[in-house]
Amino acid sequence: MLLRSDFLDMEHADAAGMARLMAVARDIRSRAWGDIVTYSRKVFIPLTNLCRDQCGYCTFAKQPGTPGAGYLTPEQVMAIAHEGQRLGCKEALFSLGEKPELRYPEARAMLDRLGYASTMDYVIAMSERVLRETTLIPHVNAGTLNLNEVRQLKAVSGSVGLMLENISRRLVGRGMPHYACPDKVPVQRLRTLHMAGVEKIATTTGILIGIGETWAERVDSLLAIAETHREYGHIQEVIVQNFRAKPGTLMASWQEPGMDDMLRTLTLARLLLPADISLQAPPNLADAFERYLDAGINDWGGISPLTADHINPERAWPAINEVARRTARQGLQLQERLTTYPRYLNAPEFLDPAPHAALQAQARADGLAAQQYLAATVINEECTA
Ligand code: SF4
Repeated sequence: MLLRSDFLDMEHADAAGMARLMAVARDIRSRAWGDIVTYSRKVFIPLTNLCRDQCGYCTFAKQPGTPGAGYLTPEQVMAIAHEGQRLGCKEALFSLGEKPELRYPEARAMLDRLGYASTMDYVIAMSERVLRETTLIPHVNAGTLNLNEVRQLKAVSGSVGLMLENISRRLVGRGMPHYACPDKVPVQRLRTLHMAGVEKIATTTGILIGIGETWAERVDSLLAIAETHREYGHIQEVIVQNFRAKPGTLMASWQEPGMDDMLRTLTLARLLLPADISLQAPPNLADAFERYLDAGINDWGGISPLTADHINPERAWPAINEVARRTARQGLQLQERLTTYPRYLNAPEFLDPAPHAALQAQARADGLAAQQYLAATVINEECTA
């Protein structure tokens, strides 16, 4: 069994050492996940781009009064969801700023006009509508949550998401990326992950790398995620996301993590986390994304045929066919999964009745999506190439 000190040593592993560790990471993936790499065909629903936090790298959040700032209307939400359904999507990813009404009177006024007391009430209502009126299954990234909010979200979604990002309080200090961000205080985010565990809902989390954290802080963040999963068994996937510098932000000139840094961190995650946690890296944030497979990842996350990555709008999703082709070149097979990972579909304590029924209606025997978009075409292309 590897110790924290072993994970700390990985920071300085040389090329030969990293090659050995990456082979171990691939072996762990192979034993736990076979030769299948998954993605989720989704639409992204940015319910509001108002946010009470001010992360130093964010271009998603807008100030009230600036062009495009505000909430989607229910009609806009349902239009995205219906179009997603028409295009074969299975997941509605709700993503939104944190509790803007606690900071901005304008946000409170907008919620009043929509007829909701809080952003959380609104996202719960919209998730319920999407679940009831379409075949999409909500996955909700609504920020930090209390126990009651987790309970309400569990009734209308297949899973929830909250990036831990990093466990270090240092990053909330003055001049650091999470300064003046009450929801980025690590203990708040850990508390939400624990609440999700207590309430037994499949949960996605992850770390954001390259925002000024040390290697030891990455190790400790992943150890904290592993610990909460060992306690509750609810972490379905961990994302390792690389920071991208965006013009107009406080961190516009920060150094971005390179491919070697990503490969080293993904290998660390694969070796450190329990093998039943899916390991994901976004394919739209690096040109040679297929190299992540060498470090043992088994999931590409959500890819949309309809909506942009609103968090990284300058980085278009690769075509699903392209992802399938590059995955196949590594001897692996791309398959479409649902919002909720297969092992939770037959664990009734993890799903409330409505999302459970919606998932069962779309799952094949192994828990992946019964209707597989495009993957079959690509495999045929590979065979005849
Ligand atoms: S990254 Fe999220 S929490 Fe931070 S400012 Fe942007 S929307 Fe708000």
